[in-house]
Amino acid sequence: MMLKAFLPNPEQRYAALGAVIGALFPAICIFYDAIIADVHGVWGSGMLAISVASLIVMPLVCGLFFYQRGRAHSRLLEELDLRRKTEENLSRVVHTDQLTGIANRAALERDLRELLVTGSMPAGRTALLMLDLDRFKFVNDSMGHDAGDALLVALGRRLIQAMSGIAAVYRLGGDEFVIVVAGSPSQGKLDDICMTIKGLFVEPFQLSTAQFWTGGSIGVAYLEPDDGSISAVLKRADLALYKAKEIAGNSHIVYAPAMAEEATRKGEIEYDLSRALAAGEFYLEYQPIVGIESRAIRSFEALIRWRHPDKGIIPPDHFISAAEKTGLILPIGNWVLKTACLEAARWPAPTGVAVNVAGDQFKDRAFVPHVKACLAESGLAPGRLTIEVTESIFYVDAAIISDSLTELRAHGVRIALDDFGIGFSSINNLRRFPLDQLKVDRSFTQAMLGNQRDAEIVDIILKLGNTFQVSTTIEGIETEGQMEFVRALGASEAQGFLISRPVSAEGAIAILQREPERLAARSIG
Ligand code: C2E
Ligand code: MG
Ligand code: MG
Repeated sequence: MMLKAFLPNPEQRYAALGAVIGALFPAICIFYDAIIADVHGVWGSGMLAISVASLIVMPLVCGLFFYQRGRAHSRLLEELDLRRKTEENLSRVVHTDQLTGIANRAALERDLRELLVTGSMPAGRTALLMLDLDRFKFVNDSMGHDAGDALLVALGRRLIQAMSGIAAVYRLGGDEFVIVVAGSPSQGKLDDICMTIKGLFVEPFQLSTAQFWTGGSIGVAYLEPDDGSISAVLKRADLALYKAKEIAGNSHIVYAPAMAEEATRKGEIEYDLSRALAAGEFYLEYQPIVGIESRAIRSFEALIRWRHPDKGIIPPDHFISAAEKTGLILPIGNWVLKTACLEAARWPAPTGVAVNVAGDQFKDRAFVPHVKACLAESGLAPGRLTIEVTESIFYVDAAIISDSLTELRAHGVRIALDDFGIGFSSINNLRRFPLDQLKVDRSFTQAMLGNQRDAEIVDIILKLGNTFQVSTTIEGIETEGQMEFVRALGASEAQGFLISRPVSAEGAIAILQREPERLAARSIG
């Protein structure tokens, strides 16, 4: 310590050591000469003089030599230090998310791998929380990428602060963050942590020009001892996150094996869908829509079914979302339109046909020309075709939707807003987009006779239809009581099992042929 204080540089200390070693040999010679040789008279005073000279020269030579060695050594140490620092910096850059400054995916993989390798499990069962922001795409698309970045940075800060001493925070990429809770957290503790995270969304985020409120969904999964790779636990957390999002957003769900089974089932459906169209496994059924006063059939709604070779008949609710996800909704939707137009053209005019169209179909520039081509090819008058859309189409670019609906209407095609009441039920959408018909979702029909609130909602929707001068159709009419109730409220049309279940194309023709008899019987009755 003392030496270091006097000689701070390593090469100085080397030189000092060299000088000491250099001085040692002449000193021994002098000692020998003066004490031992003189006694025996072997050495003369000349030798003593040389030794004394060496005592000056040797420390200098050895000191210089050692100084050089010291320089080389300290240069080596400096290089090693520089390399260590460079590697540390590199590792920090590689393991840090450049935008938010928090640990990134590579860091997560490194840390989880360490946990798996060191085998601190199952004693310490680590939990992984995957957090995904609600409406992040909306921020990016409508407020710009700078606002999106600012939101991620602000959330990253809130997370780091809230999780300090509790859990480690990572950004996976995009709007996905991962929170790792080590040490076998109980379900209660995980619930508390999730509540804390959800609490971070209570205050709005300040995004340059505006304040923005959002929420987050969380999928929870545990790291298992037999996890061969990090992706296994990430996949489980992702499945749980998917479920949490499906529920309502701003919720958290713990992974359960049934989720993986469901994902496999969906995967199989997606795979089978890709060849179902070419294999001719789809067919349409038609459900009549009648005028509420006359009970005369005005049109039929075309409803797709899938005759699966192993699984039997699959209803649309089980595969339309998979078709949307895979993009297969475009060829399938085009097939539905063409088939419905061809079959409806065989019915007596003015009986119409209503075809359900998914939002993604509008993104296809060829969609409106395809509708026109189907009408031309089938010879069906445009006024006999109704396109049914749900409010989810308004997620698609508003300009595309508005242009397409306007063009279709200009061509004579009718537009119906399906399942009204369960989505946004936005009055603004009724104002902004050209519509001819509002279809009240059947969940209200089923509840309206026993529930005052649902009855009032049906009444309000019918009044809305009146205000916007569009016809109103009540879906899911199963009893005379329901029919009478909505008739009294002023609905225009009805559809439901009371009138008829969906039937085949031939069944529709048979119903139409019996129609005069049916109406005559009613008027007598
Ligand atoms: P949606 O367009 O609202 O069609 C009405 C659904 O209600 C049909 O179910 C019909 O069978 C059912 N329904 C009609 N009356 C009653 C009733 O009185 N009681 C009950 N419980 N149900 C009734 P389906 O055929 O299973 O279709 C479900 C949904 O699948 C449709 O709802 C529509 O959103 C979608 N879908 C059907 N075909 C297509 C299609 O070709 N393309 C697209 N994109 N979606 C389709
Ligand atoms: Mg419909
Ligand atoms: Mg509907």
